[in-house]
Amino acid sequence: MARVLICDPVDEDAVRAMKDAGHEVVEKTGMSPEELLETVPEFDAMVVRSATKVRKPVLEKAAQGNLKLIVRGGVGLDNIDTDVAAELGIKVDNTPAASSVAVAELAMAHMLACSRYLGPANITMKKGEWNKKAYGKGKELMGSILGLIGYGRISRELARMAGGFEMRVLFYDPYVDEADDAAKVDLETLLGQSDFISLHIPHTKETHYLLDAPQFELMKDGVVIVNCARGGTINEAALLDALNSGKVFAAGLDVFEKEPPGETPLVKHEKVVVTPHIGAGTVAAKKRVGTEVARKVIDFFGKE
Ligand code: NAD
Repeated sequence: MARVLICDPVDEDAVRAMKDAGHEVVEKTGMSPEELLETVPEFDAMVVRSATKVRKPVLEKAAQGNLKLIVRGGVGLDNIDTDVAAELGIKVDNTPAASSVAVAELAMAHMLACSRYLGPANITMKKGEWNKKAYGKGKELMGSILGLIGYGRISRELARMAGGFEMRVLFYDPYVDEADDAAKVDLETLLGQSDFISLHIPHTKETHYLLDAPQFELMKDGVVIVNCARGGTINEAALLDALNSGKVFAAGLDVFEKEPPGETPLVKHEKVVVTPHIGAGTVAAKKRVGTEVARKVIDFFGKE
C-alpha cells in the first residue's frame, strides 16, 4: 500500500481507482510551497498537473522521506526538475497521449476563429456593432496549406482533422522521418509555403524563438499563426510586428511567454484570438488523464 499525495485536482474516478487498489490517497490541492515542503516527505507518490512546482528543494525533502514516484497528469514536464529527480532515484512519469485530441481540436478552433474574424466579430457585436463588411473577407481552410512545426502526438491528430477540411499538410520535425497524413519539408519550405502554421513542439533551448523576425520574413503574406504548444517558441515582439505589418493575417494563441500575460499589446490586438492555456481543458481529456494517472500509480505500486 502506497501513500499518494494529490497536489493538483484530478478526476474523482482516478482517486477512487487508486483507493480501490488499496492505496491511501490524500488530496491537498493548492498548497503553498512551504506547506508542500512540509507535507511531501510523508508520501510515496505525488500527483501533480501544471500548477504545483516540483523544484530541487521539494525533491530533496521528498527524498529524505519515501517519495519514489511523481506522476504529472498532462504532457509538459516544465514544472518538475526531472534531472534532480533522476539523481535522487525518483521516477517521473506523465500522461502524454491523454490530451492530444483536446489540444488538436483547440488548434483547429483557433484556425477557424482566425480565418473568419470570430474574435473581433464576437466582441464588437456585443457592443451593438454590425461590421458585416469588415469581417466579410475571411479565409477558407479547404485547399490551403497547413504547416505543422513538430510532428508528434498532437500534430498527428491535427493532420488527421485537417484532412477532413481538405487541407494539404506539411510538417517540419528533424526527429520524425515520414508520416501518413503529411509531407516532410525543411523549415524554410514550410514557412514559405504554408497558409496556416501551427506549432506543436516543446519549449527547449533549441526551440526558443524558433519563430522570430527572420522566420516571419520568409512567410507568405496573410499567413495565420496558431500556438497551442508552449510560450517562448515564438518571439511575441516579432509576432506583434508581423501582425501590424499585415504579414500575419491573424494569430490564435493559447500559450504565452509569461502566463498569465496580462493586458499586453499582443493579447489586446484585434487580429489575435486568445485562450488562457486551455488546450487540455475538456471533460473527456480530464477523465482520460485521470485514468492514466491512476494506472501509472497502480502499475508502479501494485494492487492489494
Ligand atoms: P510530442 O512529444 O508527441 O511531439 C513533439 C514533437 O516536437 C516531437 O515529434 C519532436 O520530435 C518535435 N520537436 C522537438 N524539437 C523540435 C524542433 N527543434 N523542431 C521541430 N520539431 C521538434 O508532444 P505533443 O504531445 O504533441 O505536445 C506538443 C506540445 O504541446 C508540447 O510542448 C506540450 O507541452 C504542448 N501541450 C500544450 C497543451 C495546452 O494546454 N496548450 C496541452 C498539452 C500539450
